[in-house]
Amino acid sequence: MKVAAFIAAMFTATTIVSLATASDLKDKVKLEIESIGLHPGVDPGMYVCALGHLHIKGTVQNGANVPLRQVKVAGRAFDAAGKLLGTATTTTRTEKLAPGQKAEINLEFLTVTGPAIDQVKRHEVVVVEAVPSKKSSGAINLHSAD
Ligand SMILES: [Zn+2]
Repeated sequence: MKVAAFIAAMFTATTIVSLATASDLKDKVKLEIESIGLHPGVDPGMYVCALGHLHIKGTVQNGANVPLRQVKVAGRAFDAAGKLLGTATTTTRTEKLAPGQKAEINLEFLTVTGPAIDQVKRHEVVVVEAVPSKKSSGAINLHSAD
């Protein structure tokens, strides 16, 4: 009887873990690009850093019901003809993003500099990964010793 209960508990735990995959969680992260135009004539959320790269700033909000350890965001910049000018990825630096909590993101397009910045007419920013931070009983152990 005790053994049966233990197996049932194990099965339940496994089911929960498999349902809460990173790919499901990423759909629950709300992404917002800063709505304030930082320079006239430049899209909201975009700016050029001191080194001349295009940057896109925004926030992610954890809409899932579990804390997240990491949210990875990817951005792509296109010209008027739809040609890809550059890509950028960034990961949130907060220790833990609680449900409902927001974190800043800053995408740096290392290849979009100088005249290419003026060619940017469209951009896409998407959440590509959301990693839960809950410590389960060894079922998920993605944390490296750092
Ligand atoms: Zn930069």
